[in-house]
Amino acid sequence: MKNGHAIVSDAWYARFMFFPLSGYAMHTLWPVLFTLLLVHTTMSAQSYQSMHRASPVIDGHNDVLGRVLRGGDITVRSKKGHSDIPRLREGSVDAQIFAVWVPTRHKGAAAWRYTLEAIDSMKAMVDRMPDMLLLATGHDDIDRAIREDKLAVILSLEGGRSIEGKRERILELHRRGLRAFGLTWNNSHEWATSSKDEHEGRVSGGLSEKGKDFVRLMDSLGILVDVSHLGERAFHDVAAISTQPLFASHSSCAALRTHHRNLSDEQLRMIAGSDGVAMINFFPVFLVSNLTKQRIAAMRAFERRMQALKKEHPDRGENYLQAYDALVAEAMAAGLCTIENVVAHIDHAVRVAGPAHVGLGSDFDGINLTPVGLNDVTDLPMLTRALMHKGFTEQQIYGILGGNVLRIWRQRIDR
Ligand SMILES: [Zn+2]
Repeated sequence: MKNGHAIVSDAWYARFMFFPLSGYAMHTLWPVLFTLLLVHTTMSAQSYQSMHRASPVIDGHNDVLGRVLRGGDITVRSKKGHSDIPRLREGSVDAQIFAVWVPTRHKGAAAWRYTLEAIDSMKAMVDRMPDMLLLATGHDDIDRAIREDKLAVILSLEGGRSIEGKRERILELHRRGLRAFGLTWNNSHEWATSSKDEHEGRVSGGLSEKGKDFVRLMDSLGILVDVSHLGERAFHDVAAISTQPLFASHSSCAALRTHHRNLSDEQLRMIAGSDGVAMINFFPVFLVSNLTKQRIAAMRAFERRMQALKKEHPDRGENYLQAYDALVAEAMAAGLCTIENVVAHIDHAVRVAGPAHVGLGSDFDGINLTPVGLNDVTDLPMLTRALMHKGFTEQQIYGILGGNVLRIWRQRIDR
């Protein structure tokens, strides 16, 4: 269960501890200080872990459904990939947007069949685990999941190719519980153009009239129109016609790493202007520009050392934290991509768009490399800790971890 305890950082406490006090001040201020110390003693028990648990945690993009379609079982804890249901719970995730991504080998009717099969297998899993999972389709469902200590499952399509330009298929997907729709993946199709294709100069069309009609339909149904993966032209078309907050489920900042998948500062400001959310992607390729084969190999070695560390310290106590910090510092000194690069992108997005317009879009199980120290979904509390160390306020962290996207969900989804 989640609760809303107040949390105060150690830096805040330190200001009181080292404040130079004369004898006179000591005398007059002591009752005040004593009260503050009492309050702090209660609050210091609030660790980053309680902060993490007290916030709604909502991740914008996870590709583990692909593993399910390949016959994998994600209802049990596994060492494969970055997530499964037990690990999502361990990472204290309250709502996960699960992407339905159709492998490119499936074309035409086969792509549509795959889409429905993916949705049905996720729903079957929810039916099998009613104590743990809940399909979120209504505006109160994420709040309900938090109240009942369950994981809210949000279904999303990544790429509109499989609807084959048919309007009625959007209605069908909505009926089946889909609530987010990434208009394209890397490949464009007849009604929307992708960032990859626009960047490579292959297409420049943005949204066709049909694409615009589809966006209006999704707006009216209460399906979040996901602009991650869209080309700039298509992004601007969505911004011009959509009456809803702009929602980017898994994109980082182009100002820190030039990449067509990342959002420019202008796009971040437009997202903020629409009261939307940009959810930061954890994929090192989108975070840093210095990845080499050697650095990637070194990062994988650090991942193994992190795994060994977790095994050694199942309590995640003070010794674990010290060793964890030392490993992250060592990786940073070696110029590798770490959890601190994710914090840097979040920090940049917060500076440009404001803290109410930033979220998390891990891309876990859709990426083949992770930042040192943020290696799977169970490391999410460490990101909360890193955000606290960076100096973000309790309220800002609450919003970034999930509060911001929860605001959109409550406004947008069927009442
Ligand atoms: Zn993607």
